[in-house]
Amino acid sequence: MLNLLDQTSDQLRGWFAERGLPGYRARQVWRWIFARRAERFDQMTDLPGQLRQALNAAFRLWTSRIAAHQRADDGAEKLLVEMTDGQRVECVLLRDDRGHCTICISTQAGCAMGCAFCASGMDGLARNLTSGEILEQMLRLQQCLAAGERISHIVVMGMGEPLANLDNLLPALALAASPEGLGISPRRVTISTVGLPEGIGRLADENRPYHLAVSLHAADDDLRSRLAPANRRWGVAAILAAADDYFTRTGRRVTFEVVLLGGVNDRPEHARSLVERLGGRPALVNLIPFNPVAGLPFAAPRSADVARFADTLRAAGLAVKIRYRKGDAIDAACGQLRRRERGQE
Ligand code: SF4
Repeated sequence: MLNLLDQTSDQLRGWFAERGLPGYRARQVWRWIFARRAERFDQMTDLPGQLRQALNAAFRLWTSRIAAHQRADDGAEKLLVEMTDGQRVECVLLRDDRGHCTICISTQAGCAMGCAFCASGMDGLARNLTSGEILEQMLRLQQCLAAGERISHIVVMGMGEPLANLDNLLPALALAASPEGLGISPRRVTISTVGLPEGIGRLADENRPYHLAVSLHAADDDLRSRLAPANRRWGVAAILAAADDYFTRTGRRVTFEVVLLGGVNDRPEHARSLVERLGGRPALVNLIPFNPVAGLPFAAPRSADVARFADTLRAAGLAVKIRYRKGDAIDAACGQLRRRERGQE
């Protein structure tokens, strides 16, 4: 049986057309799922009974279950979502004081990139998620919202490397953006990558103004390759060239993320090397002080070192934000909840 959420709008319209039914039926189904939060076909009461039965025979509407649900005092909620084959991924809802509800979703079960400070990559890649499984995380998080709240932003920053699964991510984001889906503008979608130049080029080809965030961590190839081993394949220069091209073609300023690890990449020389590499770009640098993760040999940076790092970048004209992770009480670092539930922490 097919996962309904794996179907694109065109495919679902095609399914109706094959049965001699009008295309607006597909819109009705999406509206029930995304706007009215239906969980079963028999709730779709403005569809004829026979059609609901046919849909029920052809498609599955939910393929996952929630294996764990954590809530933090700051309004953050994290779900551990289990797929039909037992693979588990994490997704998060973050609320801020401006009333924004941002969801962070995963694109792969596990990750092949092996970043040294990341719990998600510790066990390697299990598999890509389907577009339906990506959408299902959005819908599961939407179910956590109170009346009057709606998803305002999507960050693709959970488990996995999004640009290694673009075939499934792009259709999911297209449906999320469409008026019959969640209606979230691509401008409110951030895609975070360890930096795959070919994937960045493909994303630019899409001609949609997604916000691109490149996890840089260090400007020097030796250090960056130790922290993000995928760097050995491409190197910082190729990644920055792809990011520059993305900015030229989409007009969207690229964000560079730096997870600051105490004593590893938070020294003054590391800040200066970032200035040398990034200087002159209309870039935003997000500094993310590391949250210690059990089993990983890194410490949080000292606040004074974070402040000095930021000052060095700002003095060189770079825009800088220091982003403390929300939801510390809920295993906020990606992959932590999944490992804890498996007894690996
Ligand atoms: S930080 Fe991102 S790209 Fe790196 S291993 Fe973790 S999930 Fe993969």
